[in-house]
Amino acid sequence: MAVRDSVTYNLEQALTEEGCPVCRCLTTMTRRYLENLLYEFVNDPRTRDRLRASAGFCREHAWTLQQMGDPLAHSIIYADLIDGFCQELRKTTNASRRSIPIFHPEKAEACPVCREETETEERYEVGLVKALHQKAFRQKYRQGGSLCLPHFRAAYGRVRDGEVQDLLIEVELDYLSHLSGELQEFIRKSDYRYAGELPGTERDAWIRAVQLWVGPLGFK
Ligand SMILES: [Zn+2]
Ligand SMILES: [Zn+2]
Repeated sequence: MAVRDSVTYNLEQALTEEGCPVCRCLTTMTRRYLENLLYEFVNDPRTRDRLRASAGFCREHAWTLQQMGDPLAHSIIYADLIDGFCQELRKTTNASRRSIPIFHPEKAEACPVCREETETEERYEVGLVKALHQKAFRQKYRQGGSLCLPHFRAAYGRVRDGEVQDLLIEVELDYLSHLSGELQEFIRKSDYRYAGELPGTERDAWIRAVQLWVGPLGFK
């Protein structure tokens, strides 16, 4: 399957599930990347070198990876990072101290997962805008296109076609109005006069509101 086709296909699948379709695809792709990385690290010395160059992962991705488990791979990864750091510390002299990345982490290469995620995100944003020019995809988007605000802004900023811009706004407004209604319902039922009413779909609207505003946190 061509890259663009697989992007469209994955977006179509994500549209049938809850939440922002770009975030959903990104979560799946990042998880796959991390699984491969855990596997490769044990078998491929180049992955180890890349990870040393980036001084490991950023905080978010280090904990995401930790939550995926695999104590053996983690032991190998961190034993290697720690040994590398100790070697640098031992050979450090006053003269070289200023230029060594371990003292200036901002000079290290970016977290490899962040880099991969940024590339994937761009591919999916471009893919979404291209797919929105197809009639069949537009119909599916109308039913499940609840973009988080960061991806709504990114997608809207890439669209030049007025008709597609209108569609993005129309679908987003539908989604936002529905969510706002659920939040209002939660607030109403929090009033003691309505405390006897059973909770409905609005009970987790506050969590979906945070997801809408900034995108999801890690994996679901
Ligand atoms: Zn998103
Ligand atoms: Zn990262």
